[in-house]
Amino acid sequence: MTKKKKTLTTAFGAPVGNDQNSVTAGPRGPVLMQDMHLMEKLAHFDRERIPERVVHAKGAGAYGHFQVTADVTKYTKAAFLSKVGKKTDVFVRFSTVGGEKGSADAERDPRGFAVKFYTEEGNYDLVGNNTPVFFIRDPLKFPDFIHTQKRNPATNCKDPDMFWDFLSLTPESLHQVTVLFSDRGTPATYRHMNGYSSHTFKWYNADGDYFWVQYHFKTDQKIRNFTRQEADKMRADDPDHATRDLHESIAKGDFPSWTLEMQIMTPEMARDYRYDILDITKVWPHKDVPPITVGKLVLDRNPVNYFAEVEQAAFCPGNFVPGIASSPDKMLQARLFSYHDTHLHRLGTNYQLIPVNQPKNAPELNYQRDGFMRVDDGGGSGPNYWPNSFGGPAPDPAGNEPSLPLEGDADRYEFQHPNDDFEQPGALFRKVMSDQDRANLIGNIVAHLGGAKKRIQRRQCALFHKVDPEYGGGVAKGLGLDLSDIRTLAGMSQQDLVEATSV
Ligand code: NDP
Repeated sequence: MTKKKKTLTTAFGAPVGNDQNSVTAGPRGPVLMQDMHLMEKLAHFDRERIPERVVHAKGAGAYGHFQVTADVTKYTKAAFLSKVGKKTDVFVRFSTVGGEKGSADAERDPRGFAVKFYTEEGNYDLVGNNTPVFFIRDPLKFPDFIHTQKRNPATNCKDPDMFWDFLSLTPESLHQVTVLFSDRGTPATYRHMNGYSSHTFKWYNADGDYFWVQYHFKTDQKIRNFTRQEADKMRADDPDHATRDLHESIAKGDFPSWTLEMQIMTPEMARDYRYDILDITKVWPHKDVPPITVGKLVLDRNPVNYFAEVEQAAFCPGNFVPGIASSPDKMLQARLFSYHDTHLHRLGTNYQLIPVNQPKNAPELNYQRDGFMRVDDGGGSGPNYWPNSFGGPAPDPAGNEPSLPLEGDADRYEFQHPNDDFEQPGALFRKVMSDQDRANLIGNIVAHLGGAKKRIQRRQCALFHKVDPEYGGGVAKGLGLDLSDIRTLAGMSQQDLVEATSV
């Protein structure tokens, strides 16, 4: 029996008779505008690209589930966390940060680790990274910071001067810089890295008691990183290696998984804590707040179409469900705005209708109407205003989060907590890293910082020296800098250091 062939059609379903030859006036004549199949095909092709994400442009994603393994109902009333054994569908997108959509997966960069939980109370997005901290702690600095990681406005090349000038003028970046230039800055694959919320979030229970929390997704595949030399080789051999690895491992049934561990603090503990829990450049040391195991994340299904499901996947740190809320972390507050704003720009006002973004286990019921690409029935003939007396969806106070007392004069404040930007990177360098880790860290920095101007190298080395003399000394030696000069600079205040190393 012969299989019936499918007929090629236009976008509007009409059969296409010939897809190889345009309509022309005679065999050598010009193309006629009446060839609507050609016009439609070209016009659509011209519009195939949507704006690239400004950050996290290169990524890979997969579907799976999250399963609860411990009773956390005393901390949160979130329905998807309400019972041991309960499973919730998820979509996860991994990414690099600074590179463009066609850049290599093996770049030295933090990795995005974004999880969308399709819960029965709506979608909950946890939009984290593979590092527990970040470079800056005030969002006003974010666009400037990202500019320095991208391309020089004149040369359109990556620029070590921009990169290190900004970082050395921003000592709060030292912790994240130390993580990034360790071999954790070049994870071997997306499967072999952890994911962290980085921010502090709020959980609250059915009684309205709230807790401050941080999320840690620990890889069950074990951490595996590339050395700088391995990453350099992989960038040339296969720029898409991590994307390919994720797809292939899921396709062959080798499903990656992560164990979710939570650090949980009461408000009382947070008030007197030695670090500001709203400072994203700090972690909560495990011995202060031991993580508790809460669940398991498994990825077991590949997307069928990359553009539809990964390129158009839209995560927003402001998508919460009852039982989980934001914190006053300034960086987080800005991200609540910025992600949604980006999606409106990239995907349009109805981006929640794109299947990967739909709250598929909790229908969207509200009075938002119309706009470009409203492709469902748009609320049908139901009322488009509230309050109404026609049985439209009504607010439920159970969706409210407990009140959080806030006070203060509106002003532009630096962090008030005694912020030591050197202690935690120092702990990482001295306590956590092995001799080999430290040697690789120093070698990785030398290879990159070596491209910057000498005065910027001196300023950055002085900061590393403040973290640990062995750290600063090692980098200075690798760069051939004068050690006694670095020691002198390291003894200065940040202001004097900047003056001594500026033009
Ligand atoms: P712990 O000894 O209890 O934990 C150290 C943590 O460091 C482990 O979670 C380990 O992750 C992680 N780690 C190991 N190598 C690196 C690296 N090159 N870059 C980043 N993280 C690494 O120590 P503390 O809790 O007292 O923290 C000490 C330092 O460890 C911190 O200053 C911070 O830099 C780092 N860290 C701390 C985390 C926290 O939430 N407390 C989380 C991650 C890092 P793993 O178990 O997966 O190997």
